[in-house]
Amino acid sequence: MILFSRRVAFTSALSAGLLSLAACTSSPLQRSQVVLYSEADMAARGSAAYQQMREETPVSEDARAIRYVNCVADHVVEALPVEVRTRYAWEVTLFADEQANAFALPGGKMGVYEGLLNVAINQHQLAAVMAHEVGHVLANHSNERASQSALRNVGFGVAQILGVSDATLQAIDMGTQLGVFLPFNRIQESEADIVGLSLMAQAGFEPEESISLWENMAASGGGRQPELLSTHPSPASRMSDLHARIPAAEAELDSAQALGRFPDCIR
Ligand SMILES: [Zn+2]
Repeated sequence: MILFSRRVAFTSALSAGLLSLAACTSSPLQRSQVVLYSEADMAARGSAAYQQMREETPVSEDARAIRYVNCVADHVVEALPVEVRTRYAWEVTLFADEQANAFALPGGKMGVYEGLLNVAINQHQLAAVMAHEVGHVLANHSNERASQSALRNVGFGVAQILGVSDATLQAIDMGTQLGVFLPFNRIQESEADIVGLSLMAQAGFEPEESISLWENMAASGGGRQPELLSTHPSPASRMSDLHARIPAAEAELDSAQALGRFPDCIR
């Protein structure tokens, strides 16, 4: 019993320690967030994941497509606030893979899969996807997710020590997978949409094309939804959210064009 209570005390101290490390910040849209990790820590994780990805997934050999993807990525990065743009070594890899997907990692490493180029059929649509992915980075979403799972594991540790049955733990786990975290991910996805729409317009891409892009994406899903859509808001709510924000994005496009931002990326 002494051992038992010591373990509880230890785990509680660990939880308290983790909680006291947690910083409360806010997303670009002023939603408050709990993040446990430093930005440098997340950037290092992002770079490691990117490296691993480049080792495990074949890289495209289509020189034209690589140039095209780099062209769009450069314009998106160029529109970032200067402190974000210069903080990381932004870089994109085109992977030889048929899935219609893309990612951006903390630390500025990005990936596009060749299959995306069949769905995002022009530079504006590709920019919509890339700016959405960069939106996740700007809003610190990876840190938030990693922090949630760390906090959840601490909670599990306490429950196990207290002798909660395996069945109950499994039920809790299902709940967190299906109920607790899913709506939260959808909030993150909507945030990335909003931040991304603004970013693509600031880069000089046509914000209207984001609507066509998500329509193409939904249509391309067929029986199996592309991964990019799996936790995303329903197509209808996503479209109405985007529509509502197009006028503001058009104004940002005007300002970008006044700065001479007319991207001309040709595949
Ligand atoms: Zn997303």
